[in-house]
Amino acid sequence: MRYLSTRAVGADDAKPFCDILLEGLAADGGLFLPEEYPRLDAGTLEQWRGLLAAEGYAALAARMIGLFLDDIPASDLERLTTAAYTGGKFSDPRIVPVSRIGDGPLWLGHLSNGPTAAFKDMAMQLLGELFEYELARRGSWMTIVGATSGDTGSSAEYAMRGREGIAVVMLTPAGRMTPFQQAQMFSLTDANIVNVAVDGVFDDCQDLVKALNADAAFKAEYHLGAVNSINWARLVAQVVYYVSCWLRVTDGPGQEISFAVPTGNFGDICAGHVARSMGLPIRRLILATNENDVLDEFFRTGVYRPRSSEQTWATSSPSMDISKASNFERFIADLYGRDGARVRELFDAVAEGGSFDISGTPEFEAVRTSYGFVSGSSTHADRVATIGRLWREHGVLVDPHTADAVTVAEQYVADEPVVVLETALPVKFAATIEEAIGCRPPVPERFAGVEEGPRRVVDLPNDVEALRRLVVDTVGSLPNLVR
Ligand SMILES: *Cc1c(COP(=O)(O)O)cnc(C)c1O
Repeated sequence: MRYLSTRAVGADDAKPFCDILLEGLAADGGLFLPEEYPRLDAGTLEQWRGLLAAEGYAALAARMIGLFLDDIPASDLERLTTAAYTGGKFSDPRIVPVSRIGDGPLWLGHLSNGPTAAFKDMAMQLLGELFEYELARRGSWMTIVGATSGDTGSSAEYAMRGREGIAVVMLTPAGRMTPFQQAQMFSLTDANIVNVAVDGVFDDCQDLVKALNADAAFKAEYHLGAVNSINWARLVAQVVYYVSCWLRVTDGPGQEISFAVPTGNFGDICAGHVARSMGLPIRRLILATNENDVLDEFFRTGVYRPRSSEQTWATSSPSMDISKASNFERFIADLYGRDGARVRELFDAVAEGGSFDISGTPEFEAVRTSYGFVSGSSTHADRVATIGRLWREHGVLVDPHTADAVTVAEQYVADEPVVVLETALPVKFAATIEEAIGCRPPVPERFAGVEEGPRRVVDLPNDVEALRRLVVDTVGSLPNLVR
């Protein structure tokens, strides 16, 4: 299996999986996609039904991800998925259990049983294994310098902590994360994890990371890398739970279900699009946004109009507060039959602060008819009402992001089961839960006391020279890092 950029013209520079694993973004500014998606026939899926039941999620993951690569031996891949998806790291041995809401059409697919109680763990845990494996194989190392306003950073740190050949320097906006998120990150004491509180907001943190990466010599010398959501390995790891949810909700071949997905950067639902393209019987992909509805607007109207940061609202489902959807280009590339020149043209227009409009074209018609997408958006009042209603009527407590997807899914209920992907646990968003049900969410046992322990965080001015010195010192302080 070889990979091409969404903006590639011609197939001459296709790359194997482990190359694009470490590269992230393609050199031409596009995103990597496999030359073609492997096909899942009914026989394979029924065989996997037995595999999931007998050997569990990690075995299914190895088998499915193995379809997308030929540069990691199958036995190694199975070792990596087994290390990533274990009962030791996930609070449920099924890794992604499903549960039905009452006796209605809606189900929950529980993606938030990992170390940081957010669905990003599903991909990041495997990414940590893959990075460590491939860096060791190449005798190389990496410094991950990232910026986070919450979930992604902590998920990355829990996936990379204690790993050989990997250091993490994670910038956070001082005083702007929830107490739970701060505690989760700053309580880590592993030598290879450095938390930084920048005197600034999230955009400042991101600008610092960009400025550092713009220095090509520094980037090469310190092996700067990233774990952002456009990494193909993260996406392929997410395809696995679409398959496992389908296997757990259906009981025989060909049965169609739909998925409802709380969406920000289009990573999670893009994995659903890949699963559906492979032939998994998915009827509809129901995309839910919050008040930041740039994707709902596209799927309703055909106009893709990213917002400026001033027009991006801070909402009570903060992990969906995005202004542009970084993975969206992958879907557009498929929609246009991998016409790299056309994709470049569309996203060049967007990069210059513009938009594109494909309303009235056969491609936009296909979004619904061939690709199964529908969408909707949800507001603070909607999510609070949904959380309260599910709690009172069914004793089910969902977090604000999941509530957005339930709100939208309910508008599209038909006769097939709909799996709403649960992307975080309520404990992370206690204030909104309290507003909805009148009391604070329960704290799962594994997070008890996390807000009390010692903290390790470095204060940093909003200054790229200071960040540069910190990276140099960090690498210098880890004698085992540089191979
Ligand atoms: C990241 C995140 C999302 C959005 O996922 P995308 O892949 O960016 O669309 C939704 N909910 C939670 C809790 C998240 O952390």
